[in-house]
Amino acid sequence: MLVIGLDGATWTNLKPLADRGDMPTLQRLMREGAWGTLDSTIPALTPPAWTSLVTGTNPGKHGIYHFRHTDPGDYYQRRLNNARDIRSLTLWQRLGAHGKRVGIINVPLCHPVYPVNGFMTSDPFAPEAPQVSVYPPELAAEFRDFVADVTEYPTAQPTSRRYAKQILQFIEHNEKILLLQADTALRLMKTQPWDFFMVAWMLNDRFHHFCWRFCDPSLESSLKTDEEKQIAARCLATLRQLDTQIGRLCEAAGDNCVLVLASDHGGGPAIPAFFHTNHWLIQRGYLRLLPIWDWRRLVIGNLPRTWKAKLGVPIDSKHGLVDWSRTRVWADPLESRALAININRVGRFPEGIVPEAECEALRNKLVKELSDLRTPQGGKVFAEIHRGADVFHGPHSVNVPDLVCVLDKPLDVPASFRRDVRSSVLIVLNRHKLRDGGHEPEGIYLLHGPNIRPAGRLAAQSIVSIAPTVLALYGLPIGDDMDGEPIVAALTDEFLRAYPPHRESKPASADTPTNPAQPEYSEEDSAKIEERLRKLGYLD
Ligand SMILES: [Zn+2]
Repeated sequence: MLVIGLDGATWTNLKPLADRGDMPTLQRLMREGAWGTLDSTIPALTPPAWTSLVTGTNPGKHGIYHFRHTDPGDYYQRRLNNARDIRSLTLWQRLGAHGKRVGIINVPLCHPVYPVNGFMTSDPFAPEAPQVSVYPPELAAEFRDFVADVTEYPTAQPTSRRYAKQILQFIEHNEKILLLQADTALRLMKTQPWDFFMVAWMLNDRFHHFCWRFCDPSLESSLKTDEEKQIAARCLATLRQLDTQIGRLCEAAGDNCVLVLASDHGGGPAIPAFFHTNHWLIQRGYLRLLPIWDWRRLVIGNLPRTWKAKLGVPIDSKHGLVDWSRTRVWADPLESRALAININRVGRFPEGIVPEAECEALRNKLVKELSDLRTPQGGKVFAEIHRGADVFHGPHSVNVPDLVCVLDKPLDVPASFRRDVRSSVLIVLNRHKLRDGGHEPEGIYLLHGPNIRPAGRLAAQSIVSIAPTVLALYGLPIGDDMDGEPIVAALTDEFLRAYPPHRESKPASADTPTNPAQPEYSEEDSAKIEERLRKLGYLD
């Protein structure tokens, strides 16, 4: 089986491009296979979403909620998540345990690499990125020239004269990396033994963040200047190149190989305004800040990032801002319009002030108040308000927020807590014109090849359905701990009769993959990766 992971890919632009013949491989795969929307995790963010895709479990089981890690009972995020934080078995661990040879290239949250039955590389968020480390180290030479992801992002505003040149360079750079990654994958597909091969490409996501309007066919008529049209043509050429590379890999895999195309989340145009939930919590008296003259606020807030790293200051921008002794509720930004609302519970947090007996009433009151919130135009502010335990469930859900809320379009969550509390109004326009798009929860899946029905478009599936589908296609048992069900509508009747999907009760959880030769992150590494994430708009 060959899995091509397309970070951030969405049918919003891929389907029209396939339909009109600009992506002929995709058009053929859609015609001959089974495909549909893949609903991402809440939040629709790369680390939890890829981890759910490859484990078939929700973040309450695999333990990855964000780029950054929060320990149970801690107010703050203090470091980045890495492969050792994943608490569920990945597909390659399950397949390897059944003797299948695997090859895993560039899938997020594979740093530090660990022993598998085959090989794996680290990912675009590893300290060595854009280079990768490799298990087993003997294969390192194969990846000497590999580039995991772009590291230079456009900085010029769309109104600037330098903008077109920078965007064109950015597109070109992405395309070069795609070709290099496809060549490397093809070489290893030919030289290494494998039963399961998976590569992840970041191209779609990077395009969406900076070039959404240039790669969405429905916006073509809104592009007026020659420069804009030139950029759109360049974007299209690269997406056609992506289609060609998917075709090359399929061809190399052969007709007897099942192909899975899947994305961790989708993408769409940038959301035009921010809603400042923490500002609202301050207005309502739920959240109290330290006074402006408080030494913690003065000193910590103004330290350079590198100093903060050296002093072990949490990498969370709310550090040094909140007066926990008087705060009952606060909101942590997640991503893609999602946020976590926490009650400062006695017993759970070091400075908790809300007794357990009062939490239920407080939570109900918050649900009511948040549901009633309206924009000045009369629209709802929140599209979804969930109890945390309904979204995240499992042994690593000890830290689940009391509520997980998703803002209604056109409102987004500011990535920075600091910016959220410093805002003087509830809704502000998104003035970040450079970031042209962002994540949407609707990703893609497509299955093609032996035992796959040419079913065409199927119903939307959850992201946790991919891993059980892969196991079912190998005729292997699906772990009892996996939350998803296989996409049986995509499988042929003959196959289902011969290999009915079945469950097994062990193994229930993963040992932490360890490889002492591989460090996690130094403080400098962490600062470097955070800076890159910041440029993509993820962190404050
Ligand atoms: Zn992603």
